[in-house]
Amino acid sequence: SLNFETVHQHKNGTRVPVEIFLQYIATQGNQSRFVAIVRDITERKRAEAELRIAAIAFDSREGVVVTDAQQAILKVNQAFTRITGYAATEAIGTTPGRLLKSGRHDSVFYKAMWECLQRDKFWQGEVWNRRKCGVIYPEWLSISMLTNEHGDVVNYVAMFSDITEKKQAEETIYNLAFYDPLTDLPNRRLLQDRLQHTLASSARHQRHGAVLFIDLDNFKALNDTRGHDIGDMLLIEVATRLKTCVRTDDTVARQGGDEFVVVLSDLSAKAGQAAVQAETVAEKIRAELNQPFTLSGTEYHGSPSIGITLFLAHEVSVDELLKRADTAMYQAKRSGRNAIRFFDPETHAAMEVRISLETDLRYALPKNQLRLYYQIQVDHKGDIFGAEVLLRWQHPSKGLVPPLQFIPLAEDTGLILPIGLWVLETACKQIQEWEKDPRTQHLQLAVNVSARQFRQSDFVKQVSNIMEKTGIDPRRLKLELTESLVLDNINQTIAKMQALKSMGVGFSMDDFGTGYSSLAYLTLLPLDQVKIDQSFVRNLGSKPGNAVIVQTIIGMTKNLGLNVIAEGVETLEQRDFLEQHGCHHFQGYLFGKPVPIEVLETSLLQNRTGIALPNQKKA
Ligand code: C2E
Ligand code: MG
Ligand code: MG
Repeated sequence: SLNFETVHQHKNGTRVPVEIFLQYIATQGNQSRFVAIVRDITERKRAEAELRIAAIAFDSREGVVVTDAQQAILKVNQAFTRITGYAATEAIGTTPGRLLKSGRHDSVFYKAMWECLQRDKFWQGEVWNRRKCGVIYPEWLSISMLTNEHGDVVNYVAMFSDITEKKQAEETIYNLAFYDPLTDLPNRRLLQDRLQHTLASSARHQRHGAVLFIDLDNFKALNDTRGHDIGDMLLIEVATRLKTCVRTDDTVARQGGDEFVVVLSDLSAKAGQAAVQAETVAEKIRAELNQPFTLSGTEYHGSPSIGITLFLAHEVSVDELLKRADTAMYQAKRSGRNAIRFFDPETHAAMEVRISLETDLRYALPKNQLRLYYQIQVDHKGDIFGAEVLLRWQHPSKGLVPPLQFIPLAEDTGLILPIGLWVLETACKQIQEWEKDPRTQHLQLAVNVSARQFRQSDFVKQVSNIMEKTGIDPRRLKLELTESLVLDNINQTIAKMQALKSMGVGFSMDDFGTGYSSLAYLTLLPLDQVKIDQSFVRNLGSKPGNAVIVQTIIGMTKNLGLNVIAEGVETLEQRDFLEQHGCHHFQGYLFGKPVPIEVLETSLLQNRTGIALPNQKKA
């Protein structure tokens, strides 16, 4: 006999699972017979499949509870026990509500849930429940209502999963987005948001508020010398101290780096009074941050620079307020640090200009906006022996910007390095051009060099590279240095100057007389020339003392065997005075203003400047 399952085709075409029972019967007369019993097992198959599904569901990672119509628990699975802490024996017979209710939801919540179940036979959502151990946890719950063919409730089946971890992840993400992980203070984003709210509340109550911008003095030095871990410790401690200086409603935020921002709300309706209140808090903060810190066992003394700006309602935007407080902080720094300053509109306007200029300056070189102007230098006969190159910036909207307006900026930002190199290269290319023509090949070009540019460790190499590239005679190049540059690191300066000098490059001491003007260092430096500052020349007639100074400088250079040139010579009187006292080289508007190269070339063709021959006129 044989027993097996297979699939048959019904007359109507559908496929039917069947069980076949086949029996061989041997009859008399040796006739063979088979008896086959075929049973339709469609129902049995379906039931089996359901059982399998149910078993899988019941075995799932999700908690499952089956109750009767009165919500009495009939069945729970393993996951239920794992999540809630209750064994099946403890759960069966009681209701989920009695067992798990956390008390976190009010009756309105449960009423809405039941209404939804009655209507849709299904509900899902987030629920806070309580584990057997008492801990409240969040779960994602879905409840199905099962009814019979008459519509009566037979069972409720609830499935839920523990979403504690997901919630924590969400919270972490929130914290990362709005809080500084190091200090736990609100970050820049949350600060903006809080400030916006504070402005709104200031408008509602017509009371002032204040933004305090706090920057730690010399923080970079601490970071550099003792490492970032110590720097971090200081920031954490500063955060803690700042919180003790303000009320709970006020915001202390970390703006980034060593910058903190405090927002004070609910100050006086009167501006003067509010300013006093804000300053009192700032003073408290300053005192607090002047207390020594103990960082990893050693004592550290720090101080803050604090900028304050007041606000009332929405007079200015959040961004603008932060900028103002920042400007005021910058003023506090400039005044010598460890200080408190209120926002001042005038300095702010100046800073705005500076910032926009700084942005534009980044493009000046790549966009070909820099120009070199040339101002001739003449001797006592009026012969042109050279020129000084003076930088100009052809700004797209501001026109020709003079160097004093952007060179300090270029120094601060480091842009002076590529710019200075460009000036040197361009000047040397000009010398190269001049060398080709007998009428100009004797000319010398003076180039101003910035402190930061000169201090680069490879400055000498930069110059020698340019010499090599252009192939010019190095004696045609003269570098103008200033006293402060030279004195900054005198030994290194001398070494560099000597290296360049041995190549043949010349040196002039620019603006002489405005700095230390000490004879001692003049003797140490391998200089060729001293340039009398234009302030002395300008006032030769009006300030009697200046005549003495000029004579002294001239005498000094004579004794040291140096050449002397006067800059800023505007009148014949000035020129004659200088000449009489032994200065035979001049530069100034009297002979020519700084001009573009094309203009210069026309004067060069005449070689002599008509005005500059007073001696001959006299003669
Ligand atoms: P400086 O090197 O002392 O240049 C002399 C300044 O005096 C120039 O101003 C020039 O135009 C001006 N000047 C010349 N003759 C007269 C005169 O008779 N009367 C008056 N009132 N002024 C006269 P400028 O071109 O505005 O340059 C100012 C300063 O900018 C320069 O002072 C120099 O320190 C700096 N500078 C200019 N070009 C460069 C450069 O390429 N690199 C660096 N690092 N600094 C530069
Ligand atoms: Mg100069
Ligand atoms: Mg000068």
